[in-house]
Amino acid sequence: MEHNFINEKEIFESIENAQKADKAMINDILQKARELKGLSLTETAALLMTKDPEDIASIFETATWIKDEIYGNRIVLFAPLYVTNLCGNICDYCAFRADNKELERITLSKEQLIEETKIISDSGHKRALLVYGEHPSFKINNVIESIETVYAVKHNDEQAIRRININAAPMSVDDFKALKETGIGTYQCFQETYHYDTYKKVHLAGLKTNYEYRLHALHRAQKAGIDDVAVGVLFGLYEPIFEVLAMLQHCFELEREFDVGPHTVSFPRIEPALGSDMSIHPPYEIDDQLFKQIVAVTRLAIPYTGMIISTRENPKMRAELIDLGVSQISAGSKTSPGGYHEAKANIPRKQQFLIGDERSLDEVINDLIVRNKHMPSFCTSCYRKGRTGHKFMTLAKPGNIKNFCQPNAILTFMEYLQQFGSEETKINGIKLITDELATIENEILKAAVKEGLERLTAGETDIYF
Ligand code: SF4
Repeated sequence: MEHNFINEKEIFESIENAQKADKAMINDILQKARELKGLSLTETAALLMTKDPEDIASIFETATWIKDEIYGNRIVLFAPLYVTNLCGNICDYCAFRADNKELERITLSKEQLIEETKIISDSGHKRALLVYGEHPSFKINNVIESIETVYAVKHNDEQAIRRININAAPMSVDDFKALKETGIGTYQCFQETYHYDTYKKVHLAGLKTNYEYRLHALHRAQKAGIDDVAVGVLFGLYEPIFEVLAMLQHCFELEREFDVGPHTVSFPRIEPALGSDMSIHPPYEIDDQLFKQIVAVTRLAIPYTGMIISTRENPKMRAELIDLGVSQISAGSKTSPGGYHEAKANIPRKQQFLIGDERSLDEVINDLIVRNKHMPSFCTSCYRKGRTGHKFMTLAKPGNIKNFCQPNAILTFMEYLQQFGSEETKINGIKLITDELATIENEILKAAVKEGLERLTAGETDIYF
């Protein structure tokens, strides 16, 4: 049996040791974080536990600085695409759970999947996160067919979606190998809670009850050659400081075994879900202040990792989190299979969970520019150029990946503006691009980006480094 490498004793000891941290120690930890080498469990716990407003302000400032050092000021955008809500598990917090009779079960047909993809790509998206419920009848060949269907959809005679990431049930190494052949970007599998007893308590039936099998999903993906993998905790199920430290242990274990940490980490907080009492009153609800601290401290603890915030959070919270180290966000999202079609046709349908940010992609982008002064990006270049896994980490860890992120953000955002931007977004976006271009110090790179912008203006598309 796969072993449980989450060491709860070490986590609780780290939390205890962190209680001794004084102001001088916090300052030392913040200094160390600026070396971009990450933090230990005790150091992370100390930053998560401080309640001193001055310390917290310094943590936030450091998180902003680190995100900028590694990735620059770009924010990558994507849309989730729910393929099926069939599920064989009973998880106390989720609307998809097998015993939820209130939920209509939908698995998209090929035609419906094509329509959903078209609606997403017609809004300007180039990245989709395909999401699947976990049901034994929905097999690897169904997953593969859905990925092939989405990749085959065209927008103006070109591939509409350029990168598919997936969030699906843990698989065997052989199934992961088959999945790898489809050319996915990142494979996501969230442990939900790393606390063993809580995991057993909230996962009542189905394959997901096997804690160890899920914990090793990313190991099996790596063994199959999927070298961009993603972790996440569903905050609200157990004590949040424990969860962050356990997630770190997961990251360290992946690094130890594969020399590649997680490509991204997501931060879902439990939101009210149809038919789930627990989701309305989560046992460990975390307030906005602690949530911000968790996001910022994670940026310090695993500085190389992409950090994702979804539309579960409201626009104000998203804007604040973007300034604390987040590097990717979803936008214009629907969280039920067929949700994009239904929204377009004004058919009311309940989503997987309550959405906090209902704005369109264009509205989110305009806000990113005006409020956050961040550069929206539709870049998909790394996985298309083979910068994945270890190669990606060797660029991200010393902060060199931003030399790709910045030009690619400028070029892909310009392509968005030309094809999809509203008048207001175009005006604000062109100004931002002009300002951003001026910050490129390398004259050769600047000239290459300018040339790329001219080619885009002349009607070319899909230009990237
Ligand atoms: S260059 Fe690579 S890391 Fe940067 S935005 Fe593009 S795909 Fe992501």
